[in-house]
Amino acid sequence: MVDRRTFLKGAATGASFSQVSSTAGLAGAAGSAALAFSSQAIAHPADVHRFSFGEFEVMVLSDGAINLPVSVLTENMDAEKAKAFLAENGQPTDIRPGAVNVVMLKRGDEVMMMDVGSGMNFLETAGRLDESLDMADIDRDAVTNVVITHAHPDHIWGIIDDFEEAPRFGNADYTISATEFDFWMADGRVEQLPDSLKPFALGAQRNLSPVAERTTMAQDNHEVAPGVTMIATPGHTPGHMSVLIESEGKQLLITGDTFTHDLIAFQKPDWHFGLDMDHAQAAETRVQLLKRIVADDIALIGYHLTWPGVGHVEEKDSGYRYVAGL
Ligand SMILES: [Zn+2]
Repeated sequence: MVDRRTFLKGAATGASFSQVSSTAGLAGAAGSAALAFSSQAIAHPADVHRFSFGEFEVMVLSDGAINLPVSVLTENMDAEKAKAFLAENGQPTDIRPGAVNVVMLKRGDEVMMMDVGSGMNFLETAGRLDESLDMADIDRDAVTNVVITHAHPDHIWGIIDDFEEAPRFGNADYTISATEFDFWMADGRVEQLPDSLKPFALGAQRNLSPVAERTTMAQDNHEVAPGVTMIATPGHTPGHMSVLIESEGKQLLITGDTFTHDLIAFQKPDWHFGLDMDHAQAAETRVQLLKRIVADDIALIGYHLTWPGVGHVEEKDSGYRYVAGL
């Protein structure tokens, strides 16, 4: 039985961003080489991963998958050498299926979402968050806070429910970096960006505007709630932030898109990721954050790391490696 929401989703994805962008040629995103989200469907279903962390109940909710050509993750590298490195380490060398790991924190009546997925208008392989919320038995009206790492489609296009034409989490307060908000919302921004990024700005404005009055603009070290602090991790976007969870002497970092590949982002943090808007700054952020993560024994959750993206970092040779699991 196909309900109206499912039907609408099918209709909407009939002209989804992936198809539109492949026609328009999603070239020059982030000022870089040609890029196309893979239309090859590597699906990831709705899913829920739960664990407790100090006083918090943590749920990772699947929003689906985003499949990128490996060349996008190895942009400044010799293609053959990059493929050889991935193959040696048992990683896909053609299409990299990335997860979309939306984090929810619960503590008493506080229900906090870290990003909200991409809704139904971005990619056919994503937009599963509603199903995952249903699996987890989470009432959308119970969500008290939405914390946004950055304003890319896969993180915020889920703010507006296109079926209801209203915010998906109707009772929530929102927090985003002031720098990030100002970048995407600036007058004339759509016209200034390359064609490939115009849909990103239009989508950001469409989703952020209706909740602007309920949105707090964060600076570095902004405390959303006791034990929930946003820290500046720029580079992927100008105002990209991560969220540090501290409870009972332990720390967990929600890293957004700072680390987008299980192997490359940790062992080769200076390799250029095509969707980082400032490659030098993104690499510097990764290097500095890796030092802090190891020094302070911080666990992490990565938005696009292999489902559910929960892990920690160890020193390896003169660098680092990601190890799945806490
Ligand atoms: Zn992302």
